[in-house]
Amino acid sequence: MTSVARTRGELAEARAEWAAQGASVAVVMTMGALHAGHGELIRRAREMDDRVIVTDFLNPLQFAPGEDLDKYPRTFAADLELCRAEGVDLLFAPGPTEVYPGGDPAVRVAAGPVGDILEGESRPGHFDGVLTVVAKMLHLTDPHRAYFGQKDAQQLWLIAQMVRALDFGVEIVEVPTVRDADGLALSSRNSYLTEGDRRSALALHEALDAGEKVAESGGVAVVTAACHVLAEASVPADYVELVDPSTFEPLTTDGGSAILLVAARVGSTRLIDNVRLTVGPSER
Ligand code: AMP
Repeated sequence: MTSVARTRGELAEARAEWAAQGASVAVVMTMGALHAGHGELIRRAREMDDRVIVTDFLNPLQFAPGEDLDKYPRTFAADLELCRAEGVDLLFAPGPTEVYPGGDPAVRVAAGPVGDILEGESRPGHFDGVLTVVAKMLHLTDPHRAYFGQKDAQQLWLIAQMVRALDFGVEIVEVPTVRDADGLALSSRNSYLTEGDRRSALALHEALDAGEKVAESGGVAVVTAACHVLAEASVPADYVELVDPSTFEPLTTDGGSAILLVAARVGSTRLIDNVRLTVGPSER
C-alpha cells in the first residue's frame, strides 16, 4: 500500500513510526513523470531497505527562466500507480509552498566549480537548485540510503560531494542507466520527442558506443568518434567530454577510468547521456 503525503507533517508522522519500528529507510528523489528508470531505483531501494519513500517534486529552483518548467510532464495518477506496483511505502508529493514556505530561498547550497561546467555551463544556477532541494529532502525524509541514477552523472557526483562535505549521515547508492531496447536512455523529457526526433535521439547512445569502441586508442580518439556520430546524424552537440570520475575534471591523462558525457539538442529537446569506460591501452 502506497500512502501519499502532501505535507511535512504527514511525512514526519510516517517517518516517526518507522523510526520506532527500527526500520531502515530509503529515499528515491524524482520530479515525477516516472518511468522504468525511476522504477529501477525503487527496486534497488526495495531490495536493500525496509521502507521506501519516493519524493515527487518538480523543483522550480533548478529551472532557469525560459527552461521547460511549465511544460514538464505532470503525470501524478500514473506516478502513484507505478509506486503502488513497485511496493513504495510513501509517495511524498508536496507543492512548492510546502517545500519553500518563504518563497525561493536566498540561502542555497553552492555546488562549487564543478557546478559551473558541462551541464552547469548551459544551465547557470541549476546545480545550486538541485543540491538545495536534495539537502532539504534529505533532512525531511531522514533516510539511511538515497538512490540516484548514473544517467545524471554530474548531479550524482555533486550530491555525493555535498553529502561528504556537509556530513549528511546518508549512504548514496548509484544505479546504472536504464535504456529502451534500442539504447535510448529513459528520461521524462523523451515524451517531448516526435517520432523523427526519437530516431535522431538514438545518436546520443550511438555516439557513446562509438567512443567506447575506440577507448583503447586514447581520449582524443574517443571524443572524435563520438562527435563524428552526432555530426553524421545532424544532432548538434552542446558538449562531448571525457572526465575523470573522481574529480569530474576533464581527463588530463590519456589513460584510466573515465566518464564520456554528451549533451545534445534533438529538435527543441535537450538530452544528456553518459557511459563509464576505461581509456587507453588495456593491461594484459
Ligand atoms: P528525474 O525525475 O529525472 O529528476 O530523476 C530522478 C532520479 O532518477 C535521478 O536520480 C535520476 O538520475 C534517475 N534517473 C532518471 N532517468 C534514469 C534512467 N534512465 N536510468 C536510471 N536512473 C534514472
